[in-house]
Amino acid sequence: MKIRDILAEGRPTLSFEVFPPKTQDKYESVEKAAFAIAALKPDFMSVTYGAGGGTSQYTVQIAADIKERYGVPSLAHLTCVSSTREKVHQVLEELKEKGIENILALRGDIPADGKVEKDYQYASQLINEIKQAGDFCIGAACYPEGHVESVNKTEDILHLKEKVDAGCDFVTTQMFFDNNILYNYLYRIREKGITVPVIAGIMPVTHASQVKRICGMSGTYLPARFKAIVDRFGDNPAAMKQAGIAYATEQIIDLVANGVNGIHVYSMNKPDVAAKIKESLSEIIGPKA
Ligand code: FAD
Repeated sequence: MKIRDILAEGRPTLSFEVFPPKTQDKYESVEKAAFAIAALKPDFMSVTYGAGGGTSQYTVQIAADIKERYGVPSLAHLTCVSSTREKVHQVLEELKEKGIENILALRGDIPADGKVEKDYQYASQLINEIKQAGDFCIGAACYPEGHVESVNKTEDILHLKEKVDAGCDFVTTQMFFDNNILYNYLYRIREKGITVPVIAGIMPVTHASQVKRICGMSGTYLPARFKAIVDRFGDNPAAMKQAGIAYATEQIIDLVANGVNGIHVYSMNKPDVAAKIKESLSEIIGPKA
């Protein structure tokens, strides 16, 4: 099933994300986690892609298994900046063969050594090619606080418009911890004529160590209320986990109450976290009609 059709139903949806292993020896444990999350029957699940492309077969395999064994629509991520055109088309063929209809088309981060392939510079080029390669539903990434490399938010929104014009059907946001940032962003992108559905990406922070990584990577704004939780519970893993899940759940309730229907949880291969969030929202993002 195509994600654009699920979103077009106009009801709140809940989806979860998993990431593939970097090495074969971790495959079994990741697969187990992915299947446990799929058993919760989310509206769809996404599977990330290692930017270098080295683990691409795991992305395709996990996405295919989620769909075949659990009947959960899957969204395979695909990055381009470190890939050749040949590699990208090889993955597109594999996705077609496995009947995966949804792709999140990304540029990928520029590696620390700056070495990239020459075939793609931006995600919009990848979207163009996917569009011509088959009948895929295409998603793209967006950044309510602006992408780290962009000069300013206005420029970033103009480049988002290029991705939408190239043919993407929906966009998923980078994580954010203050919903007002998303509400403001929605206003700004709608004003620029971007009308595709926006899925809010929510990260349950269950370890204090995640916080440093998040801020270092993306400069994400942390509200005082969030910082107080980390200050108070950061040294108590069980309490931090409980508080982090509660914070994410409250964020989701506020989003749905304010008309944001698409909710994507960065569940980080943690079935227990996904299960708690789903359970807490059972009447809010209820069973499919
Ligand atoms: P683009 O849309 O190409 O934008 C990159 C930068 O270039 C932005 O600053 C943009 O403003 C600018 N830009 C775009 N077009 C132009 C232009 N024509 N001229 C000048 N500047 C331009 N990474 C992974 O490796 N694997 C994953 O599975 C993955 N999944 C993700 C899922 C989500 C929901 C999100 C939000 C991010 C994900 N990422 C993933 C990270 C992503 O690859 C990085 O954030 C990357 O740096 C940007 O990717 P993009 O597709 O947004 O790039």
